[in-house]
This record gives sequence, structure tokens and C-alpha cells, in this order.
Amino acid sequence: MRKLLKFPKNFLWGCATSAYQTEGGIKNSDWAKFKDAGIACDHYHRYEEDFDLLKKLNQNAYRFSIEWSRIEPKEGEFDKKEIQHYKKVISALKKRKIVPFIVLYHFSLPLWFQQKGGWICSDSPKYFARYTRKITQELKGVEFWMTINEPMVYVVNSYLKGKWPPFKKNFLATQKVTANLIEAHKAAFQIIHSIQKKAKVGVSKNIVCFLPYKNKALNKFLAYLADYFWNDYFLDHIKDYQDFVGLNYYFYNQIKFRLKKKISLKSFPIEFYNCDEKKEVSDIGWRIHPEGIYWAIKDVSEFEKPIYITENGLADARDRLRKSFIRDHLYWVHKAIKEGEDVRGYFHWSLIDNFEWEKGFGPRFGLVEVDYNTLARKPRPSAFYYAKVSKENALITNS
Ligand code: BGC
Repeated sequence: MRKLLKFPKNFLWGCATSAYQTEGGIKNSDWAKFKDAGIACDHYHRYEEDFDLLKKLNQNAYRFSIEWSRIEPKEGEFDKKEIQHYKKVISALKKRKIVPFIVLYHFSLPLWFQQKGGWICSDSPKYFARYTRKITQELKGVEFWMTINEPMVYVVNSYLKGKWPPFKKNFLATQKVTANLIEAHKAAFQIIHSIQKKAKVGVSKNIVCFLPYKNKALNKFLAYLADYFWNDYFLDHIKDYQDFVGLNYYFYNQIKFRLKKKISLKSFPIEFYNCDEKKEVSDIGWRIHPEGIYWAIKDVSEFEKPIYITENGLADARDRLRKSFIRDHLYWVHKAIKEGEDVRGYFHWSLIDNFEWEKGFGPRFGLVEVDYNTLARKPRPSAFYYAKVSKENALITNS
């Protein structure tokens, strides 16, 4: 039987991107020195065209990030031209009646900040606060602000796995960096509120659905640990400093206990071993588990704040799975809402294909395909499906 699942009135339907991954021409960031994204999607010059696309796809919200290394290319020196650029971006959204969600820091950092020691340095929250103050004084009239994108993803990739700048593998450092990010968020929360009275501030937090392999006691305990440190720790520490919870959900991990072969004080001795499971996977091997988004919502509902799904999507160059991915995840979002959870918006990652960090331009996360030779944009069939859901503010399912 076909069923119409209505979403709440004023629900926000949007897409998310980030500056380094799409804009192009970013030179002063740590990422530019590691893996130069070159012109990327040239979103910096084509944002009007991209917002027309958003409109065509019936979106009423857009999440993007401000590139700190553009705004403050040298310590304490702000670039007026770049501030002007983001003012124009915001006006272009408002002109189209699209609600902007701004992220202040999405992985890429100014070179000077890294040279001073980056997030491990005790003054890092102060540097972030100075940048936040400047931005909030300049970009007026924006309601939704996110200070940091996926703090734990950053900490683990940059300070534990050594995959991202500044390439550290040091368990003890992760503690210090996490503490500084928490402090930075709290300071920014207060600054934004002191300047923009109507602002709503949060972070964008990656939540993973951890399940124990075969429900064994030890695996259950590890899944509990992973859940606590990855999902809850950061949010617990900022719980009085957020007006909403921004939730990013991509996949689930099934956890099996395994001791590391090489044990050192500097690295965590236990491996969170992901066992193979017969589940559909995206082009980059992420296991698709739509029900996980429901548990993620339940998990963060303890904070009793409105929830926005600030990222959800998959790498799927041939657009084989994206439509069912969207449909199935929204089914579970709707179920959570029906049970009383206060979810107010959904942002698909991503509007356009873009630079996928250490993996480069290979993975295709876009509802809209980008031809990197011509930079032409072409909506994939799933984009029209998502556009229909957004227009109807409802999902049609077969139950
Ligand atoms: C990040 C994005 C990234 C996406 C897909 C999220 O964790 O915020 O920058 O492109 O996942 O990997």
C-alpha cells in the first residue's frame, strides 16, 4: 500500500557543501599545501548558478562554510574583499528565499594557525574567537550558525590516524585538541549570541551507529565505549552551549574486539575492528544502514534541543542507490518525528560532486554531477526525486 508520510510544516529541505571542497582557489590553508583542490567546482564564482539549481530542486535551506584562510590570510589581518564575497553569497541565498546555515570551520585551517601549533596550542580557542567575532560582526542577519564541523572526525584523522594535516599519531594529543575544540566552541557560542541576538548556534556532529558483533559482552562494551567517545563526549561537554543539535549521519559500524599487534603508550591499544557484513555499500565502502539515522536521532534527543540533520549522503557515481538511500533514511527520520522527536530539517550531502579530502575528486557525493573538465553541472535522477520530496514536504512509501 502506498503511504504518504508528511513532514512538519516549515521543515527545512536543503543541501550541504563546504568551502575547501567546492570553492576552488584556496591557497592559504593547510589543505592547499597537502592536497591542492585547485579550482575544485569553482563554486566561488558559480554560486549564483548553483543557487539557481537549489531553487530548481525546491530547496529552502543551504548549508555552507566560510573559509577561515580567506577571511584571515595572515594572523589578525582580515580580508575585506573576501568578507564582501560571503555577504554576496548570503544575499544571493536570501534573494531566492533559501535559509543560510553557516559553518565557521570545516576542516581546512589557515596556514598561520597551523604554524602556531594548530588546535593543540593553548591559544587556539582565542584565535578562533577573534575570527568568530569578526565574522559575526560582518555577516548580519543570519539565524543559523555552526561553529565546528565534525570535531571528532577531525581529531581522529588529524591527531590519531595521522591521515590529515598536521599528520599526528598521538593519543594524548587527541585529548588536548578535543579540549581546545570544546573551549573554542563555547567561546564562539557566547560571542555569536552577544552580537546577533536572534542567532541559533550549534555544531555539526558526526554520529555513527555502533553495533556489537554477535552481541558478545566484550563487543557490547566496546560498542558502548565507541558510542560514548565518538558520539556523546563532545556534545555532553557543550550541552549548555547549543541551541540545536546538528547531526551528520552516514553509516554504521559493527564492532569486534581485537587487540593491536603493536602496543604503545601513545596509541590506543584496542582496535575497533569493523567486521564484514552483507550490507549494501557505497562507492567508498561505507555500509548503508538507514535505520541508524533513527537511532542517531534518539541518541541526541537526550539534549532536548531541536535537531537538524546537517549531513547525510553517499558516494554513488552511477546514482544506483541514491534515490533509495534518501527514501529509506527519510522514512526513519519521519518515524522519529512521529514518535515526538523534534527534527526540523534535513540537508543532503552534497549538492554537487566535490573534493573528498584525502580521496580527492574520485568519490561522487553530488545530487548534481560535476564534469571536472568543463565544470558543467548536471542533476542526477535522484536529485529530481529529492526535489519532489522537498516540494511535497512528504515521502511516498510502499508499506
Ligand atoms: C564531512 C564532509 C565529507 C563527507 C563525506 C563528512 O564527514 O563533513 O566534508 O565530504 O563527510 O565524507
